[in-house]
Amino acid sequence: MQTDSVFQVALNTLNHAGKVGGIDERVLAVLQAPKRILNFRIPLKLDNGGFAVFPAYRVHYCDALGPFRDGTRIRPNLTLDEIKALGIFMTIKHCAADIPAGGAKGGIQADPSKLTQNDMERLVRAFVRNLYPRGPWADVPGADIGTGEQAMAWMLDEYEQITGVHCPPAINDKPPILGGSLGGEAATGRGVFTVLKAAAEDRNIKVPGGAAVVQGFGQVGSVLAELLDAEGCKIVAVSDVYGGIVDKNGIDIQKLKAHVANTGKVEGFSGTEPVSNEDLLEIDCDFLVPAAVQSVIHKGNADAVKAKLVVEAANGPVTTEADAVLAKKGIPVIPDVVANSGGATVCHFERTQGLSDQYWDLETVNARLETRILKAYRDAADTATQYDADVRTGAWIHALEKLEKAMKLRGWV
Ligand code: NAD
Repeated sequence: MQTDSVFQVALNTLNHAGKVGGIDERVLAVLQAPKRILNFRIPLKLDNGGFAVFPAYRVHYCDALGPFRDGTRIRPNLTLDEIKALGIFMTIKHCAADIPAGGAKGGIQADPSKLTQNDMERLVRAFVRNLYPRGPWADVPGADIGTGEQAMAWMLDEYEQITGVHCPPAINDKPPILGGSLGGEAATGRGVFTVLKAAAEDRNIKVPGGAAVVQGFGQVGSVLAELLDAEGCKIVAVSDVYGGIVDKNGIDIQKLKAHVANTGKVEGFSGTEPVSNEDLLEIDCDFLVPAAVQSVIHKGNADAVKAKLVVEAANGPVTTEADAVLAKKGIPVIPDVVANSGGATVCHFERTQGLSDQYWDLETVNARLETRILKAYRDAADTATQYDADVRTGAWIHALEKLEKAMKLRGWV
């Protein structure tokens, strides 16, 4: 099956897990495409006197288990295919993590680096107006690549201006002062760290004294690298979109963060050698964590991967063919829908806090995150054992069993 399309990769996993898990074919038929796609274009007069029309989407993938929920991606090469894939990933991720929510994703094809702050604000507000937002019990947008707390603050304000009601749980990933959760920004990296440690322990791979390679040094990769470093694991290579750096003795992550804050990239950090993003994936190490973009481990390079364990922090970084190659080589892959579900879990906490008007301290958020993500990993691993399958298939079967129950009770299938 052709897998240039990340949505096709998601469908391949869905159909494989459905078959192995004996999931009702009607349930799989419902999940072959999103329930609804909002597809619109946003015209904008730019601050520089120019004009542009930005394609935008909101994919409502499946709401059998609860209201649609999840992020908004703004990037220049954004495609509807990618947003559909992220919509199904979110559907499965919420089920896998026991979160009573449906899966959704939104996006705008635009380059934030070419827009002024004022342009961005008007673009994000226009996006919300085009969604016909219906609130916390219908569809809750959050942040993703190219959006952050500021964009979510504009989204919340626009939503509240439209409805005339203050309603923090209508939008996720907001700043805490507007009702966001503490610990939200670090949640995904922290969750990847927790899952990596549990998966390593299951396989008798030591984290302290181990060697890790992290592709992507953004919100997720940098938090993960910092936590691994603090645990005594050597970070032997990291990268960003401009390239990577390697040091067999371990990179000082605190100093690297300061270097990145000054220069905007990991390249040129003292005591390290440059390495390309491609070569970095082939470094001999204990843990390989792709934490940047999709489809980076594919049939062309999977055979060269030498890590003992691959943990997917990004969404869809390993293609279907690569999964098969890694399995043949005996390299386990801990799938995105479990490993990176920490952000979705804390978004769930954020909505819960907003609905109850009771806000939790950071220790409470982190402790509850750890308990929930460990359960998600354990459920996936146990289901994998039950079906003699890999952890990805186990995670999807576990999620699909819940979707099947919910769809049957609702009378959909
Ligand atoms: P980010 O934008 O903060 O960081 C991304 C990092 O990857 C940056 O260092 C960037 O330079 C680098 N990068 C971008 N393109 C690259 C390429 N082609 N090759 C190598 N490096 C590249 O994003 P993030 O929030 O850290 O998210 C990283 C990944 O994790 C994404 O796939 C995202 O969908 C996924 N994810 C993020 C969250 C979250 O809460 N932030 C939750 C779940 C999944």
